[in-house]
Amino acid sequence: MQNRITHLFNIQYPIIQAGMVWASGWRLASAVSNAGGLGIIGAGSMYPDVLREHIQKCKQACNKPFAVNVPMLYPNLEEIMEILVQQEVKIVFTSAGNPKIWTPYLKENGISVVHVVSSVKFAMKAQDAGVDAVVAEGFEAGGHNGREETTTMALIPAVKEKISIPLIAAGGIASGRSMLAAMILGADGVQVGSRFVASYEASSHELFKQMVVDAGEGDTQLTLKELTPVRLLKNKFFEDVMQAYAEGASKDQLTELLGRARAKRGMFEGDMEEGELEIGQVAALIHDIKPAAKIVSDMVEEFETAKKEATSL
Ligand code: NDP
Repeated sequence: MQNRITHLFNIQYPIIQAGMVWASGWRLASAVSNAGGLGIIGAGSMYPDVLREHIQKCKQACNKPFAVNVPMLYPNLEEIMEILVQQEVKIVFTSAGNPKIWTPYLKENGISVVHVVSSVKFAMKAQDAGVDAVVAEGFEAGGHNGREETTTMALIPAVKEKISIPLIAAGGIASGRSMLAAMILGADGVQVGSRFVASYEASSHELFKQMVVDAGEGDTQLTLKELTPVRLLKNKFFEDVMQAYAEGASKDQLTELLGRARAKRGMFEGDMEEGELEIGQVAALIHDIKPAAKIVSDMVEEFETAKKEATSL
């Protein structure tokens, strides 16, 4: 499978594993890259020294291209960006921030830059900022998300109409069938998050992985729009947030309720009651925990089957 995305990243399949806090360390990223996709180390949950170690281990575990995702909501950004250059990372996905700030620095250092957006307006801004490709992420996606609630189905064709650089679709994609649908809508590749949480190599807690497998339709919801909108599994913490809304909580009260490191507590430490559990709607279609390489090969196989089926339409 060859197209603008496989050429840009020098990979076999246009399947990109999303950078996800507390899930995507070097084990997952290297497994996906070794399988022919693009693995991403999620720097959001890593202090600078931890990130350096993960990059080095990823290089040892695979000799194929991989990327690092930097959500720009965390501190130590300058140090993180310096590490990426020093460690000769070749591809960086930035998210949750302004692409104008870091894209020139990364590009000057020979790094391909991709920015994650949730609207046409920001896709155009990212293109103007000089990024090499855009990830457009629909409302179905897990974790931090756009306020406008634009679904992948509506977002991808709208972004495609307005940008000329390669487009990667994200949000609700966990199978070859949805990958084909996204590419028919205009995407050159797909970014897949939730499906890779339920993999052997994800660093997420086993209880969280199992909860993803057990999740059904309607078990996730986007909330906390006043802070940073986030799609969560409905657990006790989620119900506490709903209760706070019912009582008319202010932004400060919501911030206080969220506290610090809730995401780590839930997804990494396995506190399924009090922790924050970020996953996409597509969790309802994930029924097993399997090796990352099998996720990639199953997607490719399903994609080819669905493509053949589509010719009879
Ligand atoms: P928090 O901001 O609550 O806490 C920081 C977490 O990141 C800790 O678990 C910490 O690890 C880890 N970490 C990794 N690298 C660093 C670093 N360089 N400096 C400090 N901490 C680091 O983390 P979240 O991931 O929950 O949230 C991140 C951001 O997103 C915040 O701005 C938060 O307000 C926002 N957010 C908003 C939400 C919402 O409104 N819906 C939901 C979740 C987050 P350790 O515990 O080992 O110190």
